[in-house]
Amino acid sequence: MELSEFKAACQAKCPRCRKGNIFIGNAYGLKIQKMNDRCDYCDLRFEREPGYFYVAMFVSYAFTVAEMITACLACYVLTGNDSSFILYASVALLAVLVSSPFNYRYSRVVLMYWLSPGLKYIPNLPRKFPKVPLTK
Ligand SMILES: [Zn+2]
Repeated sequence: MELSEFKAACQAKCPRCRKGNIFIGNAYGLKIQKMNDRCDYCDLRFEREPGYFYVAMFVSYAFTVAEMITACLACYVLTGNDSSFILYASVALLAVLVSSPFNYRYSRVVLMYWLSPGLKYIPNLPRKFPKVPLTK
């Protein structure tokens, strides 16, 4: 079964084959997130060149700013308080802390799916390493 581009990105699948996983495990959990070096299905090397994922910092920055603004707006709507700096600083900091695993994962996914011109989906790509078990 083929995944749509958006669904594959949400599930953090390889952008080339949409079958292998980019990350090991879930975004939220007790273990630190780890990323596979290569796709376990098509053998795509995820870090295309040294420093490739530095660009994901800019995506992560955009995510963070959007989340902080959303959290502060939600706080304003819920509390109506417009004078407490500590309240808004705490809410913004909490939003950053809670969303950081999401930002780490999806900034890289967005970079690979939509900001890398040479990286395209290839349907029916043959599997490179049949020995490696494919999870899901
Ligand atoms: Zn792949």
